This record gives sequence, structure tokens and C-alpha cells, in this order.
Amino acid sequence: MRAFISLDLEGLPHVVSPEHLSVKKALYGEARKIATEVVKITAMTLHELGFEEVVVADSHGPMVNIIPEEMPGFVKLVRGFPRPMSMVAGSKGSDVALFLGYHARSGVGRATFDHTYSGSTIDWITVNGRPVSETLLNAYLLGEWGVPVILVAGDRALLESDVRDALPKTVGVPLKESFSRYSAISPSMEAINKLLIKGTKEAVKRWKEGAIKPLSVEKPVKVGVRFLNSGFADAAELCPLVRRIDGKTVEFETNSVEEAYKMIELLIFAATGVRAVFG
Ligand SMILES: [Zn+2]
Repeated sequence: MRAFISLDLEGLPHVVSPEHLSVKKALYGEARKIATEVVKITAMTLHELGFEEVVVADSHGPMVNIIPEEMPGFVKLVRGFPRPMSMVAGSKGSDVALFLGYHARSGVGRATFDHTYSGSTIDWITVNGRPVSETLLNAYLLGEWGVPVILVAGDRALLESDVRDALPKTVGVPLKESFSRYSAISPSMEAINKLLIKGTKEAVKRWKEGAIKPLSVEKPVKVGVRFLNSGFADAAELCPLVRRIDGKTVEFETNSVEEAYKMIELLIFAATGVRAVFG
């Protein structure tokens, strides 16, 4: 059996400051260490439960956060960005997927670093009219590939929004409780490790019992994207598939989640390009 883990930083315990989130910032080393520890404990638990191979997609920023030499021998690590299928690259063919360090979607209150894929360009994203977090869009894509998301570990605000509403059978492991966008209370790493071991065992048990299925989505897939700046929508509208709804909002339809995911990646790159030129 093969398990897939996708790792983000904003939903990790004790990660609360922008200083944690980028390679050159003062607290980045602390975040890397925490990321590596939660991945390692989860991967080792999966291995003990019979998963011979664990693929880990490092999925924050330039996607080189996890310390590779600390990974056990059975782990394969997906690193680097840009890449196709971003946060779920390398997941195809896995039996189960787990998300670690995930955060709430843009607009959820009292949630550390609430955002959806790109905090500097995107206001919100909808799929078939429903606002989606990274968790939910990634789960739709994995679902299309037949891979169920058995565990989500991250900010409690995420577990009490998209996970509760769209992935009710998935095991949620709260790694912190946010007081605001930049503050949270987190258990000790010793307690976090115990929660992850317990949650992973429960998730695999539920999956083996047939309780957790791949998520499905109605086709065609209708995607709405609201940008933070009308200039980003101007760029998005250059794509013939994209319709302009208002100054900052566009929509498009695709026949699969995979196509929708690629389009979203493309629109974010276009917006990032506009931002790089015009600010
Ligand atoms: Zn992130």
C-alpha cells in the first residue's frame, strides 16, 4: 500500500507569525523543524500500519520546507515549485491521502493565515458555487483520481468549516486553535505527536472499514475566482475559457477537476505576473 501526505505550514502548531513562513525570515527554521516532526511521526505510523511506501509532497511556498535527511527510508519526497498539480503532485496511484498543517480558506474568521492558494492575489475560489479551501479543492482532485482523504490535521477553524461540511468521515486532528489571523494556542509537540499517532490509526481503521470514500464532484466543474485586484482579472480574462463577471471576479467551466486545478494554477501565475510588474 502507498500513502500520500501533503504538507502545508500555516496550519502547523506554534506557527503564527509571517516570520515563520518564508525561507529568509527569522522564525523559518522553527517552522521547518515542526513540519519535519509532524511529517515524520505520521509517516512512521503509516508505515507501522502496513504502508510500504509514503510519498510526501512538500506544499508550502517554494516547497522545500521539510528537512530531507530526517525522512525515514520508506519516504519519497516531492520538492520544489512551480509544478503541475501543486499541493497534490505525486499522489496519483496512492491508496489514501493525508493533509498536515492545513489552514482555513480565505474569509474564515479567527483562523491563522486564512487564505486560498495565494494570499497576495486571490480573495476566494468557488467550485459549483461552494467556497473551497485548499483542503477541499485538493480533496476533489484526489477524489477524481480515486484517492480518499482519510485525515486532515491543522487549524481547528478548518476542521470546523470545510472538513466538517464536506468531509464528515475524514479524521480531523486539531493542531492549534486560532485567536486571530496571527495568534493561536497549540498543544506541546509531545501532545501533538500523540494526537497524530492516534488520529492516523483511527483514519486507517475507518478507511479499511470502508467508511471513507473518495470525494466526488458534479461535472462540468464550474469554477469562480475572485481576485484582490481588478488587474489580476484583466489578465485572467485573456484566456478564452474565462468569462468576466465583475471587476475582480471571473468564472470558467471544465470537464474535470484536474483541468480546473490547472486553470486555477495558471490564473494565479498570471496574477502573480501582473503583481510583479505593477505591484
Ligand atoms: Zn502554505
